[in-house]
Amino acid sequence: MVRVFTENDTSATNGTRPKYKAMMEMVERGDAEVIVAWHVDRLTRKLTELEQIIELAERTKVKIATVSGDLDLSNDGGRLVGRILASVARGEVERKSARQKAANQQKAEKGEAIGGGKRPYGFGVPTGETGRTGQPTYDTTKLVPEEAQFLREAVERLLGGQTQASVVRWLNEVSVTSQGNRWTSKSLQNLLKSPRIAGLISYEGQLYDAEWPGIISEDQWEAVNALMERRAIENPYPGRARRYLLTGVAECSECGSTLRCKPSGGKNRKTARLYYCHECRKVARNVERLDAYVVGRVLHLLNDPRLIEELSNVASDPGLGAEIALLQQRKADAKEHLENLADHPTLSADVIVRAMESFDKRIEELRERIARTVEERAVIQAAGFTKEQWDDTAIDVKSVVVKALFRVIVKPTMKRGPGFDESAVRMERRR
Ligand SMILES: [Zn+2]
Repeated sequence: MVRVFTENDTSATNGTRPKYKAMMEMVERGDAEVIVAWHVDRLTRKLTELEQIIELAERTKVKIATVSGDLDLSNDGGRLVGRILASVARGEVERKSARQKAANQQKAEKGEAIGGGKRPYGFGVPTGETGRTGQPTYDTTKLVPEEAQFLREAVERLLGGQTQASVVRWLNEVSVTSQGNRWTSKSLQNLLKSPRIAGLISYEGQLYDAEWPGIISEDQWEAVNALMERRAIENPYPGRARRYLLTGVAECSECGSTLRCKPSGGKNRKTARLYYCHECRKVARNVERLDAYVVGRVLHLLNDPRLIEELSNVASDPGLGAEIALLQQRKADAKEHLENLADHPTLSADVIVRAMESFDKRIEELRERIARTVEERAVIQAAGFTKEQWDDTAIDVKSVVVKALFRVIVKPTMKRGPGFDESAVRMERRR
């Protein structure tokens, strides 16, 4: 009995081949004696897979042959030919990827972009030519001044304490992505993560100076990425814009979790809201009154000459980004040593692994310091603020300032009715 499996359009190199799979299952079940293919590339176009087919042929005793006669897996000699074909094909794939790797490495060292793809935001002046797909091509080593300016301002806003959500909203008011789409948190994050915007190329975990100018400095790039990482941990809902000063900032004295906000549900005004502890439910406080109390304390501190004195001693660290880049370079070197350990019998793997761990730790410390600098910057901006200036400041920035200055710990209170129980709030000055 003969069964014909035809799979014309399906590519043999990628994608699924349902009929091929059905045929192989038939072989596995022992329902086939002989497989005849027109040519070996009808059977599999991935010669590297031939080894599996040969193994199957040996195991199930199925005879595999091609009409053209280039492959006959029914005997030892034929299988040997098959194995040689497979290993030659594998060698070609490996050489190709090694060549590709060497070429990419060389490009990175020369500062040239690796790979094509979409036009990156902020870059790409039309060359006047069209590419293979008929689309216009761009010289992506040249800046698009207007987009570069928007990107710079977005980074400044983030480093100034604004949330991602509010920066995305602003970007959508002034511009669209390089593909003409609306900005989302995701597209902004992807753009900010790209070393390209700092005039850098990343290849195999190492940074190289690019041939194009950066839109922002390396320090800003490190700072904004450190900030995003930290916000991602602190705020699991980055898409939601902040509406209340102390959600996620004020803490519950009973269980330590941060407070959330909900309508008070009372017969009072419909607008009344409560900060409450979602975890233990032992703490709840009127939003307006707690905000007013906390803001009063914060403004008092912001206008304290001692604070202003303190802030002027905060040394800005312009070299942090460069130091991180250097450490990452050393780490990459150590990793390479580790991979080539066989060539260096005098080096101990232990020592290298420990060195890499210490680089990681130091990089993390520096990132932490950059993120703290961001908060300090927000506080410095707000130092000396009047109540009016405070009210005019974006709420997300205000939250950063409160959090940078104080821990706000809310205790349960017995007090009912109007008025505010100051004794049931503890504000601890940070650092
Ligand atoms: Zn609690």
